[in-house]
This record gives sequence, C-alpha cells and structure tokens, in this order.
Amino acid sequence: MDYFLTARIMKKHIALHLLLGWNWLVFPLAIEGMANQKKMSVVNPGRQPAAVIVLPDQPQPIAEYAAAELAHHVEIATGVRIPIASESAIPKSPKNRIYVGSTRAARRAGIAQEKLPGEACVLKSSGGNLLIAAKDGPGDPLDTNHTFSGSLWGVYEVLERDLNALWLWPGEVGSYVPKVREVTMGPYDETVLPRFVHRMLRPGIHPTGTPNGDLRLAFTAAERQKYARDQAVFLRRHRMGNSDGNYFSERTTGSGHSFEGWWKRFGREHPDWFQMNPDGSRGPADPRRPEKYSMCVSNPGLQRKIVELWKEEREKHPGEPMNIGIGENDTGGTCSCPRCLEWDGPVPDRRGLPPGLERSYLPTQASNRYARFLLEVQRLAAEIEPNVKLHFFAFENYFWAPADTIRLNKNMVIGFVPWFRWAGWFPRPAEMQEWLKQQWLGWQKSGAPVYYRPNWFLDGWSMPHVYPHQFADAFQFYARHGMVGTDFDSLMGQWAAQGPHLYLLARIHVRPEEPVDNLLNEFCSAFGPAAEAVGDYFRYWEDYSLRNRERAADAIRSRSNGLFRRYALYARVADELYPPEAFAPAQRILDRARTAAAAKPDSEYARRVAFLQEGLTHARLCVETAEVMNDPRAEAAARSAALGRLIAYRRKVASSGMANLDRLSVIEQESWKDVPGFLPPDR
Ligand SMILES: [Zn+2]
Repeated sequence: MDYFLTARIMKKHIALHLLLGWNWLVFPLAIEGMANQKKMSVVNPGRQPAAVIVLPDQPQPIAEYAAAELAHHVEIATGVRIPIASESAIPKSPKNRIYVGSTRAARRAGIAQEKLPGEACVLKSSGGNLLIAAKDGPGDPLDTNHTFSGSLWGVYEVLERDLNALWLWPGEVGSYVPKVREVTMGPYDETVLPRFVHRMLRPGIHPTGTPNGDLRLAFTAAERQKYARDQAVFLRRHRMGNSDGNYFSERTTGSGHSFEGWWKRFGREHPDWFQMNPDGSRGPADPRRPEKYSMCVSNPGLQRKIVELWKEEREKHPGEPMNIGIGENDTGGTCSCPRCLEWDGPVPDRRGLPPGLERSYLPTQASNRYARFLLEVQRLAAEIEPNVKLHFFAFENYFWAPADTIRLNKNMVIGFVPWFRWAGWFPRPAEMQEWLKQQWLGWQKSGAPVYYRPNWFLDGWSMPHVYPHQFADAFQFYARHGMVGTDFDSLMGQWAAQGPHLYLLARIHVRPEEPVDNLLNEFCSAFGPAAEAVGDYFRYWEDYSLRNRERAADAIRSRSNGLFRRYALYARVADELYPPEAFAPAQRILDRARTAAAAKPDSEYARRVAFLQEGLTHARLCVETAEVMNDPRAEAAARSAALGRLIAYRRKVASSGMANLDRLSVIEQESWKDVPGFLPPDR
C-alpha cells in the first residue's frame, strides 16, 4: 500500500530511528513466506462465526478494549458476534483464532514482544491464525497520554483494511462499517507503528466540569459525559496517543508556560530575572495584568535557577528521566535589557513580508534570543546530565526560525506555535502559507526535533468554517520535513457543521502521505448515494471561506474593539461573515443530498445527511441570534426570544453529538458578556 515506505527508504529510516531512539515510523517487515499464508475466515458466507478472538490470560485493559473493538466492528459489518476467549480456555470451535495482545501464541511464533517499541504492533498471519501482537502498557484504554496501545493500533489497521471501517465523527452514526455477508482477514506480515511520536487533538471538554459560559447554552451533565466519552473513543480510533512520554511534557519541571508565579516567588529578591520595560523597571508592565510578563532570559542567574530547580526535582525521583520545560509565559518575549537585545542580533529585513507580520516584531524579533537561552540552559544542565531534554515552544514574537548560524540539537524539543493574532489564520494568503513553511524549515534545520502545536482550530465558532486543502498542505509539508508530533489546541467539536474538515484533521495523523482528496472522498463515501452531493456541499463552504478571507479578517478587526482574541469573539462577527444569503445555496445542495439518500429509506446514509442538516440549521440559528445580540438597537425581548430559540434547538439536538456545546458557550460568553440581558440571573 502506498502509505508504507518502501523497503529501501525503510532501511534509512530505521537507522535514523535507532539513532534518535524514536518510534515514529511505519514500516513493513519482510514479505517472504507470505505466499504460504492466505486470507483467514472470520465470519463465513453463511453468517456463522469462523474465528474466536483470543486474549492473554491476564490481559492489559488496552488488549481487552482492542478485542472488544474488533468484535464490535465485525458485528456491525455482519450482524455476527464472534466470541472472545482467554488463551487457557479456547473453545474447539470456531476453528480460526485472532490472538490479541501479548500472548503465548505470539511468543511461539517468534515475535519478541518485549523488545517492541512502546506503541508498535506486529500483524502476522501464522498457521491459519492471525496474531495482533504488542507489548501493551497498563492504564485506561482511553488515556491518550500514558497508555501504550500497540494491540489497539493493530486492530484498527485490520478494521480499516479488511472491513473498510471509517470513523467520520464521534458516536454511532459517524461510524461507517460497510455491510457484508462474510469477513476475511490478512494475510499479514508487518509491523505497524504510529507515524508521529505524539498525536494530540486536545478534546476541548471536561467530562465532569462545567464550562465558563452560560450554562443554558452548554451541555447538561449527562450530555457532557456522553459527548466526552464518544469523542475519546473516536480520537483513539484515529490513533491519538503518545509513544514516548519523555518528549512531550512528561516528567518535566516547569511544563507549559514555565514562569507563571515566578514574579510572586522571586520578583522581590531577583527583579533582574524578569523583563526590563521601556522605562527601565522590571516585571509586569501592567498592574492590572500581573501574570503578563516575560523573562530576562539572557540573565545567567535566571538560567542557574532553572537548572537548580530541575536538579532538586531530579533528585526526588532517582533513576527516572527528568526534563526541563522552559516555555515562556503566555505573552511575547519583551525584555528590553541591552544583553537580551544584543542576543536578538540585527533586526531582520522586513521588506516583502506578507502583510500582518509586522506585529510579530513587537517589541523586537526575539527568536535568536530564545535559541541562545536554550543553549545556555542546556550547557549548565548537561554538566549534571548530558542527555537532559529541554521543552520549549516557539510562539508570539519568537516563532520565526532563528538565524541559521545558531545550531540547536536533538535534546531540544520545539513546539511550533505560529501565532500572530490578526494574521495567519486559515484560510490565509498563499505567500503567508509559504512564509510559514520557511519558518518551520528553519527550526527543523537548526537540528532540533519540532512538533506542530497550533491554535488555529479554535477559530470559527459554530460556523461551517472549513479549509481542508490549505490545512492539509501545511500539515503534509511539516510531516515531510521532520515533524515528530502534534498538539492541537483545541477541538471545537463542530462535527456536523465542519464534517470532512475535522475528519481530515484526525485522519491525516494516520495517513499523512495520502493525497488530501482521497481522505475527503473517504468521508463522502460513507454517504452512499448522497456522496456526490455531500462533496459539493462542503466544497461550497470551503470556497465560501476562501472567497471571504479578507472580509473575515476586516470584520473581526473592526468589531473586536481593540481586543486581539479573534476566535474567542467570533460570535460578535458571525452575522456579518455568514449572512442569510450564504445559507440558501448550501441548503439547496443539502436538500439534494437528502433526496439522494432517500433512495434508501431509513438507511444510515439518510441519518448521516440528517446529522449534517443539524449542523446547518444550528449555524443558521446561531447567526440569527448573533444578529440581535450584536445589534445595539435590538429590543431586550428580541434578544431573549432569539436566545430562547437557540437554546431550545440545542436541547433537541445535543445528544446527537453534533457540536461541543460547552466550547460554544464559552465563545458566546466572551463575545456577548457585555450585552444587556445575556447572562442568566444566577451567574
Ligand atoms: Zn533581558
């Protein structure tokens, strides 16, 4: 299959893999001997079970979960439930066996499971059986950060290839397993590994928390739990997980925004560790925003303190790896002391830059400063532990690639967060897209491993705001140029309004080399006779997003009242960006999809089109609500009526999982908190 590397490239990559100690490649093992193996029957044409799933006698929870997923999908495809047994109690019939997890059978077949990398899985047809063998980790099967899930990844590979299973969105209606009379599997002889060390779409929901928004507009507790669970299952089906905790904020001192709280702790004694302001003072420049400050990273005292705190933590956990997080606080790098400015070096040439980038210079272009900061801290820490890893993100006014004279190294893990407030959002001008790729390349060429940590998917509120081709173009470029992982902040979960767009976001983590249109066509194929109309429908919205790019940027600028938070204020501008006339042509196409799907009445295809309709109806209602909320002349009664209609509709459709209502309620709170009558009396 074309998404596997050829054997020749494979050798080179295995060498690299050994060199770096990472487990991020998918490669086929020798194909010899495959001629003797043939497809194994799992459900025979008479719709009888022909195979039993066999688990180790003491399986890890992830192996049990993998076995359950396998049986569940076979049952959707055929209506036949295949049995699951323990290795010590295998029934005589059915005859064929699918061994899942770390079984004795896999050892007998010569698979050295204990030597496999954390999330690897061997798929092997052997002696008339199928082995899905892995060294599974302990823990919750739905925990994407800690549970090694090799057997589960093996099961999903088999489900995709032998059953053509697709997972379009969370929940039952979004799971497509074509109906068949019989199931065969294999033959297999290969090892599968996730393509990136870390695959993360932040879920954007707390199953037991409540959002910081108007609760009438959010999920109920029961809806929230169901949504969070369905989404977690979906994310695992798209292989979200972590092959090496050592690389991604595990066992790390000061992870995230590393210096929050430092001004309180150390500001009095060591003001010189903190940003110098233009007036010569140190620390937070604005007393109303006491946590908005950056560090004086060229200060040797600060560097020593970081290493000292790490050393203390390291000594508390002898024998365990301990990394150093030195992500700057959630603000630009603004120290204007002479030494930091000297570290910045000459100001880069601003001529010919794509518009909007000027702001990423404010107050200075600080990438070189932070690259040198990394080198200094590493130099100090390496005196104690030569292989210590540093975690850093390139953000705000320092996401530009550093000067090519600065050499970083493989122990500096860089999160690439292109972020410049007004500009850069998708869809973006072509020259911006290219310019961003160059920044990625610059970091990659510095010698540091780079992962993608964007905020872009926070945008768009509940609107059909989609741009799959441009997004995939960027993602695939990064993937081709050394991307070791992802961390997307965050899923807004507008599954019905943005269907194939979010499907692509998840799916491209599994098949990053696949042409984007193939992945989008997979999505459409799950609509059966309505596939073509569904394709047209989302092409309409993608084209709409592209044509209105400039207008969107202008509207957001003019209506956001000097605030920079584009995505958080989207409800303030949605009525301008998506007026009623934008919806009419979309509705006509979706009507066509409904008619086409009705050729098979009560079918799953019709249910999927109905799901998309919920997204469209909801988006239109959101716009109608925005129109009155954003109109200062609107009557209180009109506002209350519009909100009432939106709330009523949400109550009706919430349980379908069509949208993450909690995220929406937060955006609505941010956008409308000053509108009279918005907040309910109890908040
Ligand atoms: Zn400084």
